[in-house]
Amino acid sequence: MKLTENALKVLEARYLARNEKGEVIETPEQMFWRVARAIAEAEKIYDKEADVEKIAQEFYNFMTELDFLPNTPTLVNAGRPLGQLSACFVLPVGDSMEDIFDAVKYSALIHKSGGGTGFSFSRLRAKGARVRSTGGIASGPVSFMKVFNAATEAVKQGGVRRGANMGVLRCDHPDILEFITAKEDNKDITNFNISVALTDKFMKALEEDGEYELIEPSTGEVVGKLRAREVFERIAKNAWKNGEPGVIFIDRINEANVVPELGEIESTNPCGEQPLLPYESCNLGSINLANMVKDGEIDWEHLEKTVKLAVRFLDNVIDVNHYPLPEIEKMTKKTRKIGLGVMGFADMLIKLSVPYDSEEALNLADKVMEFINKKSKEASAELARVRGTFPAWKKSVWAKKGLKLRNATTTTIAPTGSISIIAGVSSGIEPVFALAFKRHILDRKDIVEVHRLFEQHARENGYYSEKLMMEVAKTGRISGIAGVPEEAKRLFVTALDIAPEWHVKMQAVFQKHTDNAVSKTINMPNSATVEDVKESYLLAYKLGCKGLTVYRDGSREEQVLNVGLTE
Ligand code: UDP
Repeated sequence: MKLTENALKVLEARYLARNEKGEVIETPEQMFWRVARAIAEAEKIYDKEADVEKIAQEFYNFMTELDFLPNTPTLVNAGRPLGQLSACFVLPVGDSMEDIFDAVKYSALIHKSGGGTGFSFSRLRAKGARVRSTGGIASGPVSFMKVFNAATEAVKQGGVRRGANMGVLRCDHPDILEFITAKEDNKDITNFNISVALTDKFMKALEEDGEYELIEPSTGEVVGKLRAREVFERIAKNAWKNGEPGVIFIDRINEANVVPELGEIESTNPCGEQPLLPYESCNLGSINLANMVKDGEIDWEHLEKTVKLAVRFLDNVIDVNHYPLPEIEKMTKKTRKIGLGVMGFADMLIKLSVPYDSEEALNLADKVMEFINKKSKEASAELARVRGTFPAWKKSVWAKKGLKLRNATTTTIAPTGSISIIAGVSSGIEPVFALAFKRHILDRKDIVEVHRLFEQHARENGYYSEKLMMEVAKTGRISGIAGVPEEAKRLFVTALDIAPEWHVKMQAVFQKHTDNAVSKTINMPNSATVEDVKESYLLAYKLGCKGLTVYRDGSREEQVLNVGLTE
């Protein structure tokens, strides 16, 4: 297998099976075989004579070729005792002590197994509302989020990976202003991403500079009014300050709810790409687009084969999964949602000599995702002919369209934070973040590595020099460096040199062909203004995005990735 040094390190640290003494007991190849074999096992449910070995071999091949990788819990847990394979869950939080603490418990069980949880706290009565049974006063959604946060913190140590949460509050909840500033100093609620659910009513009031009503959820009473522009300003200001809260367009998300009869969608998973019904879970998988280029062109045939096998793989995951709760198993098997997405999109563009912030890149994104979405539906329809439609099909929008599918949704664009490292490619649909990375190698000093494709381009086009590479390593960018041809400067444009509106446009194009949602960060330079943030939100709404996350460079003390050398 062709794995980068970084990939090997990540696999060894978190994925490869270990014995009781904590020693690694499998190679990456053995890990992929363990996963392939466990997922192929589902074939027997539908066909007693199925050639499980053959399909396992196909799964093994497309994973070891790094054409497709499932989400982390599948790689870690398939064929092992825990057996929990999904990355995404949404749990309901009802307005009672029992319901709140049930949700705390369920989320702890999910985090232990490597899944992330999303919650809407919108059903909780507002701070100061009456508690009938005790005559006391309610402490409100934000105070309970702190309880969930503490539980996550405690589970973190023993779990498969750091548990992540999404906390959503509707903009018409009376505690919305407290919620918007809940992460202001970033020391509180550290295990949560938070998002304000904006309604169409809110967006209309925003346009007309009007007010909108606040509703106490436990009684349905109107308890106040706020000026939409005032609230919008506060959201943008906080996001400008430290990237939180994000926004989700909740009515638009529900317009795209394919089984509205099963309930209303209130929240997404932690990174925002997967809106789900309460108790639903979803497993994700991503196709490596960097591998879908042959002789400077997209290899559509190879892409089609990969999509079809990936859909089969993800549908199998639903059957062999060990669910953390019976309710989750029941809901998940009613809709059988899967989330097939992509990674290595920016690398694909570089291989095709197309700059990320260009009309041509938007057109390519449009074509590629339309193709993946279409082929994934074909694959799901093929499975439905043999395995049957998903059980809630009759109640779904697909029944009205007469399209028999095995899965209520097939596409999601995940961040691929870890699996893109394993594949050694750019993450999700993000542009290249930096052209140089600092890497820590065991007992040696940190080394700086220049982006593989950039180094290759420099060598092939005759502008490579040690001095140039050192210069690039200093900042991770080439925008201001002499000696780099203009064409290379365009092609190797990095996240911070791309205008925010191009980030939003790219997200919107992918959303157009994605059933679920798209994970994307709208990167902004440090000099961006609160107005810029607001403009991005409005553009995202206009272009049909389901939500938006902005991040202004340097606005958080601890930044996940640092560009280039800092010392
Ligand atoms: N996730 C999580 N904890 C993490 C990273 C991710 O719970 O530390 C969940 C979360 O629901 C997120 C989803 O996994 O939205 C997908 O994230 P990503 O694509 O980055 O995961 P990968 O499969 O690459 O590990």
